[in-house]
Amino acid sequence: MVSKVTGSRSADSSGIYRRPRLVIRLKRFEDLPTVLSKTKSYPTPIRMVGADYSQTRCVGGDGGTTVDTGGLDKILEFGETFVRAQAGVRVGTLVHALAERGLELPLTPEMGQISLGALAVPTLPQASHGAGVAQLSSLVTEIKLITPQGKQMIVTERERDLMRVLRSSFGLLGVVHEVVLRVRPLTPVKIDYLVLSLKEFSGRFASIIRAPGALRLHISPFNDRITVERRTLDESASLSRSGIWQIRKSVMRNVLPAFGSTVGSVLAAPGLRAAMQKALHATLDRSTRGVMMYAHEWMRDLPVEAWKARHTYSLWAFPEADFPVVLAAYYSFCKSYFKTNRYRCNVVSGASRLHQDKGSLFSVSYTGPMFTLEPSSTGDEGWDDFLIDFNDFASGLGGTPTFNQTRALQPEHVAKSFGERVKLFRALRQRTDPLNRLRNSYFAYLFG
Ligand SMILES: Cc1cc2nc3c(=O)[nH]c(=O)nc-3n(C[C@H](O)[C@H](O)[C@H](O)COP(=O)(O)OP(=O)(O)OC[C@H]3O[C@@H](n4cnc5c(N)ncnc54)[C@H](O)[C@@H]3O)c2cc1C
Repeated sequence: MVSKVTGSRSADSSGIYRRPRLVIRLKRFEDLPTVLSKTKSYPTPIRMVGADYSQTRCVGGDGGTTVDTGGLDKILEFGETFVRAQAGVRVGTLVHALAERGLELPLTPEMGQISLGALAVPTLPQASHGAGVAQLSSLVTEIKLITPQGKQMIVTERERDLMRVLRSSFGLLGVVHEVVLRVRPLTPVKIDYLVLSLKEFSGRFASIIRAPGALRLHISPFNDRITVERRTLDESASLSRSGIWQIRKSVMRNVLPAFGSTVGSVLAAPGLRAAMQKALHATLDRSTRGVMMYAHEWMRDLPVEAWKARHTYSLWAFPEADFPVVLAAYYSFCKSYFKTNRYRCNVVSGASRLHQDKGSLFSVSYTGPMFTLEPSSTGDEGWDDFLIDFNDFASGLGGTPTFNQTRALQPEHVAKSFGERVKLFRALRQRTDPLNRLRNSYFAYLFG
């Protein structure tokens, strides 16, 4: 039924501490009820793992059972407006299979490894094109899961409130084994870059957010440089395959790596910072005219072992209207932190504009449009301490965190940001899983 893997009892190689007693690789979802009901053979807590790329202990181990969903790897059905697949399918595999059929997801992340189970139940904010869809879980229209009592449940968009809770449930309400995602026809994307100082960015902010397109920012507080990357859907553009492959080569080789914060790209170790900046300028000169590509072509596969990507970051989101003020405060925070502690992040910080999205309970843009802010690093010495102070800074400015991409999170940050939504989730969780079969110490600490 399931293949068992020797349990690891120590911190894993990414440095994120975990202690599962047992790690099993699921081959058939039909085995899940047995795994959930046999507490002696499969110790509590039962926690699922997809690609294991989260930045926090949201997978967790705690002497329990880690269930690797990688064996549930079938794409089951392609429709014109939807695709049905098992939870262990990687989003990169899915996106390429869709592209072969002239289809795509309405939001395409840059990292290919994300498993569909992890796409469905955590909040994964993405640079968005319009209201309603700013986290990947909002693409999910149906979820099949096994409850802590071992019962199969099928939830669709028609059960709006339940779907909203499940889409940010992190495996705490049940184990997802199948999902249906919304798809649309492949649409060319025009990518433009604009390099601004903070003063210029603040002065032009109203027009930057008014113009159409998804926005991704690359921020260097010490060089006072904000690169605004705008991705505009252009349905009228017709791109031949050969044309698009040439553009792809140019973008992948020359443009994206130069930004440092783009996933899987070149990292700016301190000694390389000057060279990085040079490459950035040279590349930008070439790219200001804009390039066209399809979204799936910016997707990258990172190393199979998460820690080898050597790219770590933390993420908070802030109300859109406050963002220029937040950025100015971030510049000052970084400079003052460096003065006192001689530490500064060695990778360009990222940011994404998120439209309002109420599709999941813990959506970071639940209350309105937001911008994320993502300090990034290679995980060098001083990074962990920096994040502790950064969290207080971000929470003090009214920021909203995530549970799998915000590191060193504390219960008071969670209570302040999510308030009543946490209480609602806790009450539902206690009813659904009274024996805490699915809860690990990380979530117990944050939610109570
Ligand atoms: C270098 C780097 C680059 C990244 N780039 C991007 C990016 O471009 N875009 C983006 O959106 N994100 C990005 N991320 C973040 C990443 O997408 C998330 O951390 C995502 O959760 C990773 O997917 P995973 O399969 O590794 O999830 P995991 O870490 O394996 O799991 C995440 C959570 O989901 C739960 N879970 C997993 N499967 C199931 C299931 N079947 N049923 C119930 N619960 C389940 C787990 O228990 C855990 O709580 C990046 C992360 C890194 C480190």
